Amino acid sequence: MKSQSELESEPQSEVRSEDQRASSNPGSGSQTQAEAPDARVAKTPPASAPGSARGNERALPASVLTPPPPAPSPHLDDYVRIIGQAPLDALRFLARDLKGKSIKMVNSTAVGGGVAEMLNRLVPLLSELDVPTHWDVITGGNDFFEITKAFHNALHGSSYDLTKAAQEIFLTYNEQNRERMQFDENMVVIHDPQPVGLIRSREKTQASWVWRCHIDLSNPDPRVWEFLRPFVERYDAAIFSSQSFARQLPIPQYLFYPCIDPLSEKNKELPDEFVQKVCDEFGIDRSRPIVTQVSRFDRLKDPVGVVQAYKLAKKYVDCQLVLAGGGASDDPEGAAVLKEVKEVAGNDPDIIILDLPPWCALEINAIQRASTIVVQKSLKEGFGLTVTEALWKGKPTIAGAVGGIPNQIIHKLTGVLVHSVEGCAFQIRYLLTHPDFAKRIGASGREHVKENFLMTTNVKRWLLLFRILERAKSRRSVPR
Ligand code: UDP
Repeated sequence: MKSQSELESEPQSEVRSEDQRASSNPGSGSQTQAEAPDARVAKTPPASAPGSARGNERALPASVLTPPPPAPSPHLDDYVRIIGQAPLDALRFLARDLKGKSIKMVNSTAVGGGVAEMLNRLVPLLSELDVPTHWDVITGGNDFFEITKAFHNALHGSSYDLTKAAQEIFLTYNEQNRERMQFDENMVVIHDPQPVGLIRSREKTQASWVWRCHIDLSNPDPRVWEFLRPFVERYDAAIFSSQSFARQLPIPQYLFYPCIDPLSEKNKELPDEFVQKVCDEFGIDRSRPIVTQVSRFDRLKDPVGVVQAYKLAKKYVDCQLVLAGGGASDDPEGAAVLKEVKEVAGNDPDIIILDLPPWCALEINAIQRASTIVVQKSLKEGFGLTVTEALWKGKPTIAGAVGGIPNQIIHKLTGVLVHSVEGCAFQIRYLLTHPDFAKRIGASGREHVKENFLMTTNVKRWLLLFRILERAKSRRSVPR
């Protein structure tokens, strides 16, 4: 695989494809945004006072029960105050030779999930650089999305009985979309496995075709991978989010880390009054240390381990623990994990558990900013965007040494890596009692994100790749 430095080159990040499906197929019986607040209210008990029998589960303030209106998209010049003028000039320079050349991005959902979130920002920024970028979304019935969800799980390692019927459904929808779509652009980028079969249109086009895989292919179900592989091999290049996700392929492979947008609601600077208001609403005391983990209530995020680590550290240092998550209300497994977390938390009024709706980006941003330390004690992880978000906010961050996290956390330099509950407890205690060290790693963490994991760096990678592919194409077309 081409290294980061070769191309100047983890997600959402692959994010949950269930979310994608819920969004692209609102009729499929999945949760829609409009339904969610009621579900949330119904499942969250009324406000419980700190220290009461359910002392650590907070009721949500009314302000977060309905989705806010979408925030306006930023323009390239808005990033000047974050990355400075020179990197923006570099983007414009790189785009110059691509002027008028166009890109098509194709994925399986327009809203929901990290891929859509990223495309929402990437597409207008590339277009603003005079590289017109179009975004098309494949369509499919419930049968198709059930199969692609099963593929998604199987590619992540669960076993799956790949039947002929499933293969046919997958191919039929890919064919339908292929017939419907035009591929007149210079580069076509197909995101993830769902639309991978569109490559069959390749011979009819002048485009370079790229497969952008956002998911972890390190341990796929062999039958599903063998079914998809012949399609992947027909592309001009493949992109993965981590070295360890790549496969043996006869085509060039590139490494694109996932990225965050520093101007998004989740990451933009916030006035301190807003941070204070959110803390007041959620019962978080800013005059005392705050240790936070933001994560879905999922065993692989080890929220129970975080509570245990907090309890060990709390014998020596004062602090509160905030566990801010989501999705537990409508996910049976999430609800079970939330229950386990509440059981181990007991009645400790300093443990604040928040089961937030999916649109609480501003509140999560405020909680991360209010935190003294951020923890991401994952046992398995794709890239870990919550780590990126915390580092970007200059927070001293403690995280499990798994998946893409070590790409972000260089131990004792941009954060600290841990392998156990005890290790996590030790680091909570250490960071709370060594504020200068904590501040230093927080500042280095922010710089690391600025260099490697911002949307603007992602735009640069796309421009570089596009230039490489255009050059390869022009060489191919020179008569020998
Ligand atoms: N997140 C959120 N609400 C929650 C929990 C998580 O918005 O209740 C966000 C979090 O801020 C991050 C993303 O969801 O942007 C999670 O990405 P990550 O790569 O850390 O983990 P994943 O959930 O994709 O495994």
